[in-house]
Amino acid sequence: MVEVFAIVRFRAMELITILNGCHHFRGFVYHHALFTTDKKSIEVSVRPRKGSAAICSRCHRPARGYDQLPERRFEFIPLWGFFVFFLYAMRRVDCRRCGAVVVEEVPWADGKRTLTKAYMLFLARWARRLSWKETAQVFRTSWEKVFDAVEHVVTWGLEHRTLGQIDAIGVDEIQYAKGHKYLTLVYQIDIGITRLLWVGKERTVQSFQGFFTAMGQEVISNIVFICSDMWDPYLKLIREKCSEALHILDRFHIVAKMNKALDEVRADEARRMKREGRAPVLHKSRWLLLRRSENLGVEQHFRLRDLLRYNLKTVRAYLLKEAFQQLWNYNSPAWAGKFLDEWCRQTIRSRIEPMKKIARSLRQHRELILNYFRAQKLISSGVVEGLNNKAKVTIRKSYGFRTYHVLELALYHSLGKLPEPESTHEFF
Ligand SMILES: [Zn+2]
Repeated sequence: MVEVFAIVRFRAMELITILNGCHHFRGFVYHHALFTTDKKSIEVSVRPRKGSAAICSRCHRPARGYDQLPERRFEFIPLWGFFVFFLYAMRRVDCRRCGAVVVEEVPWADGKRTLTKAYMLFLARWARRLSWKETAQVFRTSWEKVFDAVEHVVTWGLEHRTLGQIDAIGVDEIQYAKGHKYLTLVYQIDIGITRLLWVGKERTVQSFQGFFTAMGQEVISNIVFICSDMWDPYLKLIREKCSEALHILDRFHIVAKMNKALDEVRADEARRMKREGRAPVLHKSRWLLLRRSENLGVEQHFRLRDLLRYNLKTVRAYLLKEAFQQLWNYNSPAWAGKFLDEWCRQTIRSRIEPMKKIARSLRQHRELILNYFRAQKLISSGVVEGLNNKAKVTIRKSYGFRTYHVLELALYHSLGKLPEPESTHEFF
């Protein structure tokens, strides 16, 4: 028995050597390390170094000691399948500067959280690669602790990020739950850096206002390009706040709207033909019509050619949609404008209501569409689209509780390119 005990103590000594090598803090010493009786955890007791004063957590300066609180456990990165805890009794200081009795600040932990900073950074990094649930499973911890870790790292990152000069931004929305639950996302889409700048609840004027407040007047007034969809609250605020910037309507959204209108025409006509007992020529034509014709396979191409011989509203709507694609080939805003006007004129005469609606809306936003050409086609909403797809993946991976705050953290964490708190060692 004596021998076994000696071995345990010996290993504990080794552990302290390792800790001193990777997680050492001035003013504190690792005292001893022992297994708990169930042999599942290792507890490392930490003490203040003799003669070193505690730091006031309010003013971050040394202060006179007052008393000591009961011992607390701080969870550290697990080691070889053992949980590791630091045991430390926090001191309180009687801070003359603050004129109050305040708990000390310790370098390995943050306020009231039970995880050490090193463990939070460790978990948060994994939570970017795995889902939060998987991260919790792999490290035998809870979803809530992973949440805590990400919250700590993201909060730090937002407080310490530099916005710098932002030339181009893209605004987009994501539906994150049924029943009109939307998030507004604003991305920086400069050539050298693309990142998520801001997440807001809903897509109202009021919520979008939060973006301008968060960025500050200086950053906002220097923005040169803004890319957004045709959502009115976005248009209105951008007009108000960034009157100097060139506002470009998102090409992807225009195409998406057009596809939606075409699909409506097709579904409607297919139903009517079925009711009237006509041959089901529109059967299974949905993807044939929605895909760009150059992306169709040989057999699909023949099927499409057959379909286009019929005199159907759907076919006419399809041809209008396909013709519209030519717009993006223009380089001159003036010629693009002529084309757009002509397309709208034809479409409005088409007597296909969903397409007419699109044409009216395009007419109304003519200048913003032509800004794409005025910006020399440099601002591609494809970047926004790519980021938004990543955002959707993040939303799928992170929720356990699909609350707004969880999604906000997850999005900043994976797309914000935020700086990370410093660490004493790369624990990878
Ligand atoms: Zn103080």
